[in-house]
Amino acid sequence: MNSSSPLPDSPETCRVCVTAAPAWLVVLDNAPTLTLFVLGGLLLGHLSWLLAAGYWAYCGLAVVLFWRRICTHCHHYGQASCRCGYGVLAARFFARRSAGNFRRVFRRNIGIMFPCWFVPPLGAVYLLWTEYTRGLLYGTLAFCGIGFVLIPLISKLVGCKHCDLKEECPWMKPTVKATESPAKP
Ligand code: SF4
Repeated sequence: MNSSSPLPDSPETCRVCVTAAPAWLVVLDNAPTLTLFVLGGLLLGHLSWLLAAGYWAYCGLAVVLFWRRICTHCHHYGQASCRCGYGVLAARFFARRSAGNFRRVFRRNIGIMFPCWFVPPLGAVYLLWTEYTRGLLYGTLAFCGIGFVLIPLISKLVGCKHCDLKEECPWMKPTVKATESPAKP
């Protein structure tokens, strides 16, 4: 499907949505994110375990909000074709919403996830400044490597690589001008 072709109105008529993502791909998409959240909390735990607990609680909330505010607008909503598995989970808890403005919805709501990625490094920089240890340095490097290199690489090279909607997706094509269409995280 090229970027100028209109997307189908429903998953039932979309050739992308009828192809289930393999289990290994769902695991590959989720394991690094889970590791990132665990590592982020462990880093923040050096500051305060209350802060770490708050971070983990926020990460859980952010994922649920992602299902509600983004996945419910996506063509993969309720479909095993979602490479994250979120599409199926979102359908268990939230009703489907309009599938016609995904790009705009994604851009408006993706900030929900930003604290999960940026709060631990900020805490880690403070810790490295005030009480440097080699373990903290390695933990910080691991967090940044997973969050800013590994996860985007998995999406670009594996998870989203063969998705026919990638030309319409703000995650894969952040510079493409807004059009009315759905796609991937
Ligand atoms: S492709 Fe992305 S936005 Fe669509 S249902 Fe899956 S995780 Fe949600």
